Amino acid sequence: MVSVTDPRDGKRVALKKMPNVFQNLVSCKRVFRELKMLCFFKHDNVLSALDILQPPHIDYFEEIYVVTELMQSDLHKIIVSPQPLSSDHVKVFLYQILRGLKYLHSAGILHRDIKPGNLLVNSNCVLKICDFGLARVEELDESRHMTQEVVTQYYRAPEILMGSRHYSNAIDIWSVGCIFAELLGRRILFQAQSPIQQLDLITDLLGTPSLEAMRTACEGAKAHILRGPHKQPSLPVLYTLSSQATHEAVHLLCRMLVFDPSKRISAKDALAHPYLDEGRLRYHTCMCKCCFSTSTGRVYTSDFEPVTNPKFDDTFEKNLSSVRQVKEIIHQFILEQQKGNRVPLCINPQSAAFKSFISSTVAQPSEMPPSPLVWE
Ligand SMILES: [Zn+2]
Repeated sequence: MVSVTDPRDGKRVALKKMPNVFQNLVSCKRVFRELKMLCFFKHDNVLSALDILQPPHIDYFEEIYVVTELMQSDLHKIIVSPQPLSSDHVKVFLYQILRGLKYLHSAGILHRDIKPGNLLVNSNCVLKICDFGLARVEELDESRHMTQEVVTQYYRAPEILMGSRHYSNAIDIWSVGCIFAELLGRRILFQAQSPIQQLDLITDLLGTPSLEAMRTACEGAKAHILRGPHKQPSLPVLYTLSSQATHEAVHLLCRMLVFDPSKRISAKDALAHPYLDEGRLRYHTCMCKCCFSTSTGRVYTSDFEPVTNPKFDDTFEKNLSSVRQVKEIIHQFILEQQKGNRVPLCINPQSAAFKSFISSTVAQPSEMPPSPLVWE
C-alpha cells in the first residue's frame, strides 16, 4: 500500500494493488469477493473502497487498484514502538476493534486473519480493520468443511489448531483476545515456533480442555492433548501482563480466551462489558463521525455500535466458472461502481508515486499466508 495524491481534489489517499488477480479461477474469485466487500462496507472501523482506478480496455485489463482512506500506522507498529500506551489507548483501540468486528459479523462475514498488522490506525487513534483477502461468508451448515489455511499462527484459535473442519466467527474473537493481551503486555501472548507448540502454550494458560470443549477437534489433535500431562489453568498470570491489567480487563480477556468456541463471548456481548464504557465515551466524544457537537453540547447517535442489514451476499460466486468470465464480470463491476460517481480516477503509470508503488508489492514474511498443521 502506498500513499498517492488524488488528482481530483488533492487529498492524500492510499492505493492498494490487489494481488495475483487473474492467475486462476480461485484467485479471481477471491479478488472479486474482496473487491465486493470493500465496496459493501460502510462503517468507520472497517476499511472500505473510496474508489477503484478506472480499468483499461478489457484486453489490457490485468491489474486492479483500490483507493482507500490513508491510515498512517497499524497496531503492530504501535505495539512494538517505544511510545507509551495508556489504559485509555488500550480501551479505545479495543472498543473500535470490537465495534468493527460486530459490524462484520452482523454482515455474516468472518475476517479470518485478525492480527495487529491488519488493524490500521491514523494519527487521531481511529482504527480500521483491513485486509479481507481471507474473509468469507460464515458457513452455517456444520457438515460443510472449511479451509484451515486461515489466521496467522500467533492469533489462531484453538479449534483451528486442533483441526476442526468447521468453525464460526468466534475465531475472530480469539484473535482479539490475543491482541488485547498484547496491548496490555506489549508482547505477543502466545508466541510459538509451530502450531503444536502454539496449542501447548494455550493449554499452559487455560489448562487441559474438557472432552466437550474438544468435540470438534480431529482425533490426532485430541490424542496429542490426552497424551500430555494434565494441566491446571494459570489464568491469574494475566494480572502480571501490566499494571493496566485490572480486574475488569482480565475478566473481559478471560471471556475472549475461552477454549470452547461456543462459550466464547461475542463481539456484541463484549461491547456491553463495563471495561469498554470509557472507550465508548472517549470514542463518541471526540473521535467518531456518528455524533456531533453543537453550541449546547454533544448530540449522540441513537446507535453506538451499528450493525448491517442486509448481510453480505456471496451467491454471485456460484456462477463464476472461468477466468475470462470473471474478468469480464469484474471489469463490468468496476465500471458500474464509477457510474454516477465522480470523474473516474486515473493515475499516470509514469509518475514517481506509481513507480514506487509498483516496487513495493513484495510481501513481507509477516504477510505470508497462514499454513495449517496436518495432524497424523
Ligand atoms: Zn458517535
